[in-house]
Amino acid sequence: MRDRIKTLVRNALRGKELLLDILFPPACLHCARSTPSGTALLCDACMRTITVHTTFFCAECKARLPENIKTCHKAAPFILAAVTNYDEAVKSSVHQFKYRRWTSVMSVFAPLIETYLDRCGLHESDALIVPIPLHPSRLRDRGFNQAALIARVVAHKLGAPLRPELLKRVRQTHAQAELTDWQARAENLANAFSVPDGVSFENKSIILVDDVYTSGATMRDAARALRAAGARKIIAFVVAKTG
Ligand SMILES: [Zn+2]
Ligand SMILES: [Zn+2]
Repeated sequence: MRDRIKTLVRNALRGKELLLDILFPPACLHCARSTPSGTALLCDACMRTITVHTTFFCAECKARLPENIKTCHKAAPFILAAVTNYDEAVKSSVHQFKYRRWTSVMSVFAPLIETYLDRCGLHESDALIVPIPLHPSRLRDRGFNQAALIARVVAHKLGAPLRPELLKRVRQTHAQAELTDWQARAENLANAFSVPDGVSFENKSIILVDDVYTSGATMRDAARALRAAGARKIIAFVVAKTG
């Protein structure tokens, strides 16, 4: 009897999915054309607009670093590794994190991240992979940290340890867009991060991971906390950077 009920429920759910697909055919989130696999977030044409980079970038001026040699802005706190630019199709995909469609977002990003790691020659298997943390209250609201999902892909590809517990968000910061003058923005972020007591990054390389790099203020603040705990080399890794 129980098994029959289970089967009935399962079939009913399957029927509902089918009905939803007929009523709302899966469409590209960016251009609304239908997607080939049904589960894909972007259609093939939109996927082709995403260019995967081949180098690292200067964290200050975002210039390409040919051959990954540090040439400009020597005072930059880290090297920037960015999979692609924050162009329209990528922007639409990142936006989907807000609607908790993280499995489909990551199915778009994961292969791009892996291609980029191969192309830019980043093979630091001994680096610690640290995602930019969300404040615990924001994590509770959202249910997941997109930086942690991206960091998981990076760690897996490099065979490097994923260590989210090594960086804490100690202050809730406001959305930067809500603050108008630059000083308020800088103060909003200053010292928002800390490293747990007793943790030392002496002679360690760290790959700090976030979704998007715009002004770099968040990464800079996090990097400051890591350096204070002895970190030697920091690479800021993001899926997308603004121009
Ligand atoms: Zn499309
Ligand atoms: Zn520069």
